[in-house]
Amino acid sequence: MKEKVYFIKIKDKEDDRHICRKLKKAIEDKDFFSFIGPKNLVAVKTHFGEEKSIGYVRPLYFSMMGELIKRKGAVPFLTETSTLYSGRRANAVQHIGLAKEHGFTFGETGLPIVMADGLLGNDEIEVDIPGKIYKKVKLAALIVKTQALLMVTHFTGHLVSGFGGALKNMGMGCASRKGKLIQHSTAKPSIKIKACTGCGECLRWCPKDAITLKDKKAVIDKKSCIGCAECLAVCRFDAVGYNWSATFVQLQQKIVEHAMGVAEANKGKTIYFNFLNRITKDCDCVGGPEIIVPDIGVLISYDPVAIDAASLDLVEQTAGKKLSQIAYDIPYKSQIEYARELGFGNPDYELVTL
Ligand code: SF4
Ligand code: SF4
Repeated sequence: MKEKVYFIKIKDKEDDRHICRKLKKAIEDKDFFSFIGPKNLVAVKTHFGEEKSIGYVRPLYFSMMGELIKRKGAVPFLTETSTLYSGRRANAVQHIGLAKEHGFTFGETGLPIVMADGLLGNDEIEVDIPGKIYKKVKLAALIVKTQALLMVTHFTGHLVSGFGGALKNMGMGCASRKGKLIQHSTAKPSIKIKACTGCGECLRWCPKDAITLKDKKAVIDKKSCIGCAECLAVCRFDAVGYNWSATFVQLQQKIVEHAMGVAEANKGKTIYFNFLNRITKDCDCVGGPEIIVPDIGVLISYDPVAIDAASLDLVEQTAGKKLSQIAYDIPYKSQIEYARELGFGNPDYELVTL
């Protein structure tokens, strides 16, 4: 059986206020938020955009969605997680500051920001999954605790995952810092000697006492280290390095298994929105945007695999080219193929134009 994916077609460079009105009408007409109950705490997960990023979903959409959720008597809030790499999105405080610069203020959206993984990205809960790589995945705690979830994703190309859609927003975007490290890294962390100040903070947090100070520099004993990433989370000097050598396919499979954890934790209480406008070659973590295809529309579904499969097809149909020809030449269909292999979601969809 095919999974329904609803499609609101838009013109190239169509005004966001106009698109937002169309989306509001669709949500009301179809009662897409019918699964949200009174007093539900509703997490609205999105990406606030890196500095110089242009692609993130604009605040006015969240203001509109927030109003519709509040009409159900529920309590919506915006949420995100910290990044693995250093920068302004690596901790909750600076991340919220950057979001504010992109208009994600309470005054603009009517929604507070509550970071899903806490101050440093290490508030997490393990979720059991029937995966092939993992039997448990480490997710941002709030994503597991929330009573309803909106995954609002700006669809883009991506250097390692081929494309960034709902699955990536869930799998990587809802993982705790350790969950992200597990996906990205095939090795244990190491210390960047020049950057290490010898502050000793990582020693305090290491659960295996695997770190010592030698000549005022941290040293990791690889035999004792369990790869938990606490040192990565607490080092404020970007002095803990890791190996990004997971292959493209491996990484995509790990993303899908973490996405499966998010779906398992939120069965029957999640809706997905993929925005196919301002589609860039790189994800919203990268500044310096390069638009690769004219604007297409907004997709809505209750299935993350169906919505990503439909998004990918629409991008390729609109471009008249394979994604690998307009973004990165890597095995970009692995997320969809692996979801099918796992029996997670439904890659077979029926596009319903609204
Ligand atoms: S927390 Fe960072 S800077 Fe401080 S000792 Fe550990 S690695 Fe070095
Ligand atoms: S990854 Fe965990 S166990 Fe390994 S050194 Fe860092 S804090 Fe210690």
